[in-house]
Amino acid sequence: MASGTAPLRETDRFVDFIDVEKSYDGRTFAVARLNLHVSKGEFLTLLGPSGSGKTTTLNMLAGFERPTNGTIILNGQPVDRSPPYERNIGMVFQNYALFPHLTVEENVAFPLSVRKMPKSDIAARVQKALDMIQLRKFSDRRPGQLSGGQQQRVALARALVFEPTLVLMDEPLGALDKKLREHMQLEIKQLHSMLGVTIVYVTHDQSEALTMSDRVAVFNNGSIAQIGTPDDLYNQPANPFVASFIGENNTLDGVVDDVSGAECQVTLNGGGHIRAAAIGPVAKGAPCQIALRPERIRVGPATLKDNSFQATVEGSIYLGDHLRLLTRLGNGQLLSVKIGPERMMAAGETVALGCSSLDCRAFPVQ
Ligand code: ADP
Repeated sequence: MASGTAPLRETDRFVDFIDVEKSYDGRTFAVARLNLHVSKGEFLTLLGPSGSGKTTTLNMLAGFERPTNGTIILNGQPVDRSPPYERNIGMVFQNYALFPHLTVEENVAFPLSVRKMPKSDIAARVQKALDMIQLRKFSDRRPGQLSGGQQQRVALARALVFEPTLVLMDEPLGALDKKLREHMQLEIKQLHSMLGVTIVYVTHDQSEALTMSDRVAVFNNGSIAQIGTPDDLYNQPANPFVASFIGENNTLDGVVDDVSGAECQVTLNGGGHIRAAAIGPVAKGAPCQIALRPERIRVGPATLKDNSFQATVEGSIYLGDHLRLLTRLGNGQLLSVKIGPERMMAAGETVALGCSSLDCRAFPVQ
């Protein structure tokens, strides 16, 4: 399933968290009032800062933790009382969790042996899984004789070999370097589309989440701040947390002057006005926060749109494919601007900036 495909139908529901809560200490909730569905064949990522409740959510689905309140439905059945091994879920962890004393082949065969599959079937399935991750030639090695990336591919094969309909992955690429991580992201995506398996994936890395997922649930303090396709989250963040957590963002503070339909006029703190899209209940006279992506700001009078400002360049950073300008508005607020690499600008230069009101998202301040 690709991002932005047809909306979910009721019959697609494969995993359902219904009002699920988890408290470890009886006082605070690591996960609070979680309502989340995953459809069959979907790649859903739980994204959020450390401590926001992602692993707790995954562990409750796996059966390693029990919800304090609420119910989890898996494939039409409540699983609150099922132990992990009855859920038939494949798991991949950051630390691989391979058996060090077993060979690659024996590691991959393990889930089939515990399911008491006939030996001849096991051999065929293991070979198929090793081919899938291109590690057949290493089948006699032990995990300690493999690189990190190879070990993680063995862990993937072990999670997939018994053909589970659901695979959970908790920061599976966290221990790998950037290049290998990006390569493995593609491999996992390919496996996902080839096998049609449902994947729930945990990461704190937003670019990984945006690259791999059909939908992303952004966690903050044990709750979902927003769930949607990568495109929804990037272009239509529902609150300041998501606007700042996904991609880069400028934040401008002000007070709402006027609201007219989906648009509002805001006086910025320190002076100046801006027209913005009103997101949520922004009210006249109330403080608000405006989120504006650096690449949505245009430079030069010819490109000015609904909003125009004069700003002073404080510095510029050359980043190869683009230039990052740090500018200061007349009211003292800083604005980061992303432009093409061909335009160098000197500190102290005055620039005209402009942006569309649709790209300025005004949120009420809670
Ligand atoms: P994340 O995966 O987003 O980093 P976690 O689900 O691991 O978040 O943790 C959520 C909260 O629950 C944190 O405050 C964490 O300290 C707490 N927590 C997680 N596991 C346990 C545990 N086994 N016992 C007590 N508190 C825990």
